[in-house]
Amino acid sequence: MSPANPTILVTGGAGYIGSHAVLALEAAGYPVVILDSLEYGHPELAQQHLKAEVIVGSTTDRLLLDQIFATHKIGAVMHFAAYIAVGESVQKPAEYYHNNVVGTLTLLQAMVAVGVKQLVFSSTCAIYGPPKTIPIPEDHPKNPISPYATSKLMVEQMLQDFEQAYGLNAVVFRYFNAAGADPQGRLGEDHQPETHLIPLVLMTALGHRESISIFGTDYDTPDGTCIRDYIHVADLADAHVKGIDYLSQGGQTTFINLGNGNGFSVRQVIDTARRITNCEIPAVERDRRPGDPPSLVGSSERGKAVLGWEPQYPDVESIITHAWQWHQQRHGWGK
Ligand code: UDP
Repeated sequence: MSPANPTILVTGGAGYIGSHAVLALEAAGYPVVILDSLEYGHPELAQQHLKAEVIVGSTTDRLLLDQIFATHKIGAVMHFAAYIAVGESVQKPAEYYHNNVVGTLTLLQAMVAVGVKQLVFSSTCAIYGPPKTIPIPEDHPKNPISPYATSKLMVEQMLQDFEQAYGLNAVVFRYFNAAGADPQGRLGEDHQPETHLIPLVLMTALGHRESISIFGTDYDTPDGTCIRDYIHVADLADAHVKGIDYLSQGGQTTFINLGNGNGFSVRQVIDTARRITNCEIPAVERDRRPGDPPSLVGSSERGKAVLGWEPQYPDVESIITHAWQWHQQRHGWGK
């Protein structure tokens, strides 16, 4: 561990993307402290594979944040902690605005109070709303259509104001479809309940589900199913470490898409999973899922230019291979 590396506070570090980022930070020699409410995180995985201390609590708890900043010499913050379910956010907007917006504001206030001025923040491509151009550039109009996406856009706006007023610099990452697992099999995706395509496809392969639903086969896409930009979680994690490096070199607030710049359809994902798993994976064609745009693919040029970031696993085969390794080990075979 290099003495030059500051300690990084990672909120949501026991969650899917956060835990992979901690793995990458620790591999790069950064000491890490995790703050996680453990509502959804997996502390046993963090304890097994990460060196970081896990502090249990919420970013809405200012007293706790002040204690953390007083007892650890934090140099920068990576802020993953948030509620992330789009559908649920429509039912429970108060909880989403409280956790995602009030929680982040409280964190930012605590940072400003102690002079910590570097933040890497998890945003989402959902802030763009239905795309007007593909691939989507970062200056695309912002039209969030769920409280979840609005909560992320509100924070983006706050961060612009915090840079102006307090000199707090942020790297804001707008994720496309995070997927895959640690290539060495230590960590992976395990949401409860699971709603994402790739884990559901693999749970079907393992026999834990009867079939995978294909939501919509009449989209204006080459095979009629939705196209998404799947990005390997290890590539996301690597971008986050590069974000910390960028800020430590005096980088200003910037907004960066994290996707591959390539799209894959639902059918392509299922067919690839069939090849990799050698399982049948029954699929059932269903109606469109409300709110799904036909195609979401991001331009990834800015991340490459600003951070020197290049995805190592841009192909959907690697993403599914690593996820498959993880799912077999985590969930085993069903009936
Ligand atoms: N999808 C699907 N069946 C499922 C889950 C998802 O056909 O059981 C589709 C969904 O409609 C979307 C794509 O797969 O077009 C990716 O969905 P996911 O929920 O993984 O991520 P999102 O794009 O919603 O963030």
